[in-house]
Amino acid sequence: MTQSDCIFCKIASGELPSKKVFENDEFVAFHDLRPAAAVHVLVIPRKHIETLSHCTEEDAPLLGRMAILVARLAEQLGCAYTGGQTGFRTVINTGPGGGQEVYHLHAHILAGPRPWLRMG
Ligand code: 5GP
Ligand code: ZN
Repeated sequence: MTQSDCIFCKIASGELPSKKVFENDEFVAFHDLRPAAAVHVLVIPRKHIETLSHCTEEDAPLLGRMAILVARLAEQLGCAYTGGQTGFRTVINTGPGGGQEVYHLHAHILAGPRPWLRMG
C-alpha cells in the first residue's frame, strides 16, 4: 500500500534516495536528512499509514514489531540502553499539533548530546 505523492513511500520503494540502515519486507530505516542529534534515524512501515491517529487494532502487530525494531536498531547504532547514562529517545510526531511534517507514520530514533534540541 503506497501513496504516489508521499516522499516516505518513495524512499521505501527506492524511487527517492536515502541513507538506509535497515530494510525488510515490512519496514525501512534511514538517516534523517536534517539530523537533530548525533544519531537521528527514521523507522517507517512500508505500508502507508498517515499518522499514529490513523492506526487501528489491526495495526497493533505492526506497531509492536516497529517498537522492537527500534530497540534492535538502537543496538546496531550503538545507542541502546545498556545501563549507566546510555539510551536513546523515540519520538512519533502526530498531526500539526504534534509537529508532524511528513504524513507517513515514522518513529525517530535520537541519541547523542541533547538529542531533544529540535524535537521538543
Ligand atoms: P516529522 O516532523 O514529520 O516527525 O519528521 C519528519 C522528518 O523527516 C524530519 O526530521 C525531516 O528532517 C525528515 N525528512 C524530510 N524529508 C526527508 C527526506 O527526503 N529524506 C530524509 N532522509 N529525511 C527527510
Ligand atoms: Zn507513504
